[in-house]
Parts: sequence; structure tokens; C-alpha cells
Amino acid sequence: MEAKSQPQIIPRSEHNISRKQFSPNAIKVLYRLKDGGYDAYLVGGCIRDILLGIEPKDFDVVTNATPEEIKRLFRNCRLIGRRFRLAHIVFGREVIEVATMRGHHMSTNSEGDPTSKASEQGQLLRDNVYGTIEEDAQRRDFSINALYYSVKDFGVRDFAGGIDAIKARRIELIGDPETRYREDPVRMLRAVRFATKLDMDIAPATLSPILELSPLLGNIPPARLFEETLKLFLNGKAEANFLMLRELGLFKELFPSLEEILAQENSEFERRFVQQMFANTDARINSNKKVTPAFIYAALLWFPLRNRAAHLQQQGISEYDAFMQAISQVLSENAQRVAVPKRFTLGARDIWHIQQRLDRRSGQRAYRLSLQPKFKASYDFLLLRVESGETEQQTLADWWTEYLQQDVSGQKDMVKNLGQKDRPKRRYRNKPRRKPKQDT
Ligand code: ATP
Ligand code: MG
Repeated sequence: MEAKSQPQIIPRSEHNISRKQFSPNAIKVLYRLKDGGYDAYLVGGCIRDILLGIEPKDFDVVTNATPEEIKRLFRNCRLIGRRFRLAHIVFGREVIEVATMRGHHMSTNSEGDPTSKASEQGQLLRDNVYGTIEEDAQRRDFSINALYYSVKDFGVRDFAGGIDAIKARRIELIGDPETRYREDPVRMLRAVRFATKLDMDIAPATLSPILELSPLLGNIPPARLFEETLKLFLNGKAEANFLMLRELGLFKELFPSLEEILAQENSEFERRFVQQMFANTDARINSNKKVTPAFIYAALLWFPLRNRAAHLQQQGISEYDAFMQAISQVLSENAQRVAVPKRFTLGARDIWHIQQRLDRRSGQRAYRLSLQPKFKASYDFLLLRVESGETEQQTLADWWTEYLQQDVSGQKDMVKNLGQKDRPKRRYRNKPRRKPKQDT
């Protein structure tokens, strides 16, 4: 789809967007910019979503004022970003993002040009050339994301056939797909996210280059890929995203060690485990329950971790040490691709450690384990293992389910009834026994 220089303008009488559907703060920002003598539009996801009858997640504003000019108009303004400079207008907990319209990033003479910079693969490293609204529309990703709403005339401007694409439920890149993916490979992930979120199809020309270009994701900073995976996993469509990412060869770029396992023919259990985890995540999100990213990443790295630990044990390392080393190795390998912040990897470590300890329940152990901060997540993790086919853990899972329903005395009885076989095993069997004291 090519962008046009003359937009199709849909007047107020012909669209269903009213000011009431926008955040009052976004409207304030639009009027302040307009009264300051600038052009300003709501653009992107919020217009697209309202046209589709979905409640917008956030409100993005674009203007011909430069970041410095925006800062002068708003006291509550912060300038952010390097690769892409933006203004954040802060209203308590709500942030309205205001971008300056971007222009062409003449890649041929970008040498020495400080405002725009591309890599050898055509990836845009910096993009701060300002331009007109027509140019701004051309460098947005999908036609459905290039619709602009103005408070000057309350019309919607469509530069790239976005209205038709919305009617046809079609995700299509603006411009030449391969060039656009090379400029920013994350657009491949965005195509998947919008297709599942909006229940649309990816247009053939936008779909076909992905399989071949997926390795370009390797050039994206791991911190940005973490942000993108989080959006893919926490938007209530994680299961569908997971399946489509695998189908399009994108998942292997994000979690290569897991994909290697899932791609094997006899890995039905592993595939079911990951898919079930995402299905559960979606169910929780869609009923407004809390989801911890630590759980998701713990699940995604669980099989790579177990394989690595088994491999280390084969080399003669003790079970405990192998598990510890495998955790460090798997986490640091993963950080090369997807930089999961420490607060989540710490949680994942806890969940993994507790998996190893769930069957040691005698004495005070069950009680103490149940007080651990990540205990509930670890119990859910055990249920997931059983649910996806680890039947040998069924008895243990049932025991914990009952334990959590009992009062203190019921719990004590359960521990007593564990019987001889679950008595604590002597942990330090290799330690030399202390010699009994001699009387003489
Ligand atoms: P949502 O907020 O629901 O995830 P969105 O479309 O608003 O969807 P944002 O990431 O908030 O997505 O971006 C706002 C707009 O900025 C997009 O609609 C699109 O026009 C433009 N945009 C964002 N990321 C890119 C990109 N990588 N390449 C080109 N344009 C982009
Ligand atoms: Mg948005």
C-alpha cells in the first residue's frame, strides 16, 4: 500500500468518532497546541481502536511543534528518547505522548547527518528528521495506524487507505514491506500483535517477507525485545501470539533454546505446557487477575533449564550444582536475546527452586515453604505441569491443593500422615559422620 500525498478526509458527519471517546487530557493537549498556533492530531492506535469499537489503551498526539516548542507550552512536560525524541505530558497517572511529525530519512546521504541514521542492513538507528503530516503518515508502520483526527474540523485524515483496510480487516504495511521491515524489524512482531488483537489478517505482501527476514530481530537491542515480548504476552492474546510467532519463524529469534525443543517431533508435552501457560495467562488477564511476568519467563525457560541441568549431571556434576549452574547459564543466554529485568528473573529463580522442594514436606517444611513469597506462583506452576501431562506429579499437586484448604491443625495432620516414606532424607550423606564421643 502506497501513501498518498492528498489524504481522503472523512468529515465528522461520516464517522463515529466523538470527542467524548477520548481522554479529556488528550483533548486538552490538542487544544493547547492548536491555540499555540500549531497543527495537532490524535493518531495511531486510539483512532484505529475507536473505529473498530475497541476502547483505546492510550492516546498518541502528533504535532508540527518541535520537542522544545512543546516543552515551552506545557509545564508538565518531559522530553524522552534518543532514537526517537518525544514529549510526555504527564497528568497524574496518565501520560499523553506527543511526537513531532517525522519526515523522510534520506538514507543515501545520511552519512554525517545527526538527525537520522541507518545501519548497513537498512535499520533506522535514529529518526529525528521532522516533516509534514504527509511524510509523517508515510513512515508509520501499518495503514490502519496512519489515521489522523483533528480538533480543527473533527475530521479523520486517511493518507494510506487505512479506512478501507479497517473495513477489510487487513494489516498492511505502508510502502515496500521488505524495506519497512529492514528499517525496523520489530514491525514483524507488531504485525502479529495487531493481527491477533484486532482479529485481522496480515495482507499477503506484508506476510510473505517475514519468514526470511525474521533473523533481523537479532539486531534489536534485547531490552526493546523484552518490552515487545511483554506486550505480546500480556495483551490477552498470548496463546494466539505464541502460535503465530512460531508459525512465522519469529519465536525462534526470541527464545531459540525453547524453540529447538518445541520443534522436535516428540515434544508434544512441552508444546502443550507452553500453550497452556499462555492460555491460562489470557484467562487471567481477561478476568482482570494479576499476572506476573516472572511466571511466564520461568515457564518459557523451564525446559531449556531442565535439559541443561540433565546435561551437566551427565558430566558428573551433582544434581544440586547442575541445577544451579543450569539456571545461570540459561538466564545469561536468554539475556542475549530478551533482556528480562532482574526483578523478574529473581522471581523465576524462586519458582524453579521451589519446584525442587515441593515434595519435601515433613516437619516444618511444608509450612515454611508455603510462606515463601513465590509459593503461590510455584504451586500454580506445579498445577500447570500436571495439567499439561506430567501425571507423576498429580498426587503431589492434589496434596498441596488440599493442604492449602486446611486450617492449621488440618495441615499438621496432613504432614503427620505423610508417613515414613516422606521423612526427611539425610541431606548431607557425603559429610563424614561425627564420631560418637568416647566415654573413656
Ligand atoms: P497500541 O498502543 O494499542 O499497542 P498503537 O498503534 O497505538 O497500538 P504504539 O506503539 O502506541 O501502537 O504506537 C503509536 C503509533 O506510532 C502507531 O499507531 C504507529 O502509527 C506508530 N508506530 C509505532 N511504532 C512504530 C514502528 N516501529 N514503525 C513505524 N511506526 C510506528
Ligand atoms: Mg498507542
